[in-house]
Amino acid sequence: MLKKLTAAAALLGLLATLSLSACSGQEQQKPAEGKMQVTVSFNAMKEFAEAVGGDKVQVKTIIPDGTEPHDFEPKAGDIASLAKSGVFVINGLGMESWAAQAVSAAANTGLVEVDASKGAEPVKSAGAGEAKEHGQYDPHLWLSLKGAEIEVKNIKDGLCKADPANSNYYQKNCDSYVAKLENLYQDYKTKFSLDKKKNFVTGHAAFAYLCRDFGLEQNSVEDVFADGEPSAKKLSELVDYCRQNDVKTIFVEEMVSPAVSRTLAEQVGAKAVSIYTMEGSEDNLSYFDRAKANLEKIDASLKG
Ligand SMILES: [Zn+2]
Repeated sequence: MLKKLTAAAALLGLLATLSLSACSGQEQQKPAEGKMQVTVSFNAMKEFAEAVGGDKVQVKTIIPDGTEPHDFEPKAGDIASLAKSGVFVINGLGMESWAAQAVSAAANTGLVEVDASKGAEPVKSAGAGEAKEHGQYDPHLWLSLKGAEIEVKNIKDGLCKADPANSNYYQKNCDSYVAKLENLYQDYKTKFSLDKKKNFVTGHAAFAYLCRDFGLEQNSVEDVFADGEPSAKKLSELVDYCRQNDVKTIFVEEMVSPAVSRTLAEQVGAKAVSIYTMEGSEDNLSYFDRAKANLEKIDASLKG
């Protein structure tokens, strides 16, 4: 990612504005009395595990906020956390390439592993650059409400397996959270069906599953980076695309090339609007509130 940012900045002459946030220290948590420890890979999984686990679980997130989760390596403390956990939740679809090794290092025979995307129909990574970064499949299932419903149910199954005494509690929480996601989905299904425009442009190509939910299409600034190197040809194609399609909004993710997205917005006379990826915690908002904010912003951009 650093290589990409640097190369992109060189291309656009933006080096001065770049800064990389240092990893914030993670507080060491001890499971509280009577709670099962659940370890998860990154922020969206934490949100889902807490929604289902409620006050019966204590959730520890391995990937610290401010860390780009696509290229993460676990530390000794993460292995120690897995060693005393009842459940380990990953998104899967190639997002946590480090997970299998961490699990075997933890040597916790009682650990229930949850691949939260199990059973979802995967979207293939678009293009060689994406496949190189993410693997064969696009991992960003959690950004889709339909995907989130699948992930929440898989997490519920894992919690029930590890802690059958509280199965009814987990099932009840799961049902009400899924109902909440489904209501939001139905709401936006109607809204998007009334929008004439169906395309939006974003920095990180993270919204393929969201697009599948609603019959939308994403174009990304990241596509400009073939094999990690920015391509002037691709960038000018994207500029042309934005002009031809009257794109008035470029969505920006704080962790992925925000300067490049902002510059593109300036070049095509669009405004840069932030969008959440739920890969880390953002603005201290819940998954649900961030999902709703994303949908509101995308919907507004399709009317504009
Ligand atoms: Zn991502």
